[in-house]
Amino acid sequence: MRKITCPCEQVFNADIPEKVDLDQDTDALDKLMDGSLLSCICPTCNAELNLDLPLTVSWPSRKATIVMVPEMERLALVSGTLSPKKNAMYVVGYAELADRTAVLRDGLEPVVIEALKYRLLQKAKETDPQKNPVAFYEKRDESGELEFHIHGIRETEVAVTRIPSRLYDSILGDWKANPDREDYTALHVGSYLSVRNILLEDSSDA
Ligand SMILES: [Zn+2]
Repeated sequence: MRKITCPCEQVFNADIPEKVDLDQDTDALDKLMDGSLLSCICPTCNAELNLDLPLTVSWPSRKATIVMVPEMERLALVSGTLSPKKNAMYVVGYAELADRTAVLRDGLEPVVIEALKYRLLQKAKETDPQKNPVAFYEKRDESGELEFHIHGIRETEVAVTRIPSRLYDSILGDWKANPDREDYTALHVGSYLSVRNILLEDSSDA
């Protein structure tokens, strides 16, 4: 149970987990992917609340623990004031959690996915430098292509982009051969791996 405060000012307790184990709780993966894991209905105003609360997702069969910190703690995470748990990967906000979970579900290498996002976002930025798009991994389709969704190119639309598996494989090979090259290491800030670590720097230079 967690104490929730609705924008209508109602305070109530809701059955929202602080941690889930995706091997033990067989419904949790579906709930995580459809967004219902951290949502609840306010008993007073009936609003559906999508909560920006911390959550730890363990997935022993994938040898992974993902710690999601709320969007408002992004700065604490990247500035190092938040002391991270050992052997955990960090994500910020629910969208990044769903993204990373999908990457692990599909047996992909997170750093390669972030490097692919960098290429996609760079291309979008070249087309329209005014925009600040964000990209999320969705799924691998039957043909092996990787589907990404890019938000923020147009106001209300999501652009769907597919990356051929041979491009993924070639970047995977390149990363394995050069894991210490700067374009890969720059994606990491401590245990937080995200293409946003690079884009944040870009925007402060501008
Ligand atoms: Zn309410």
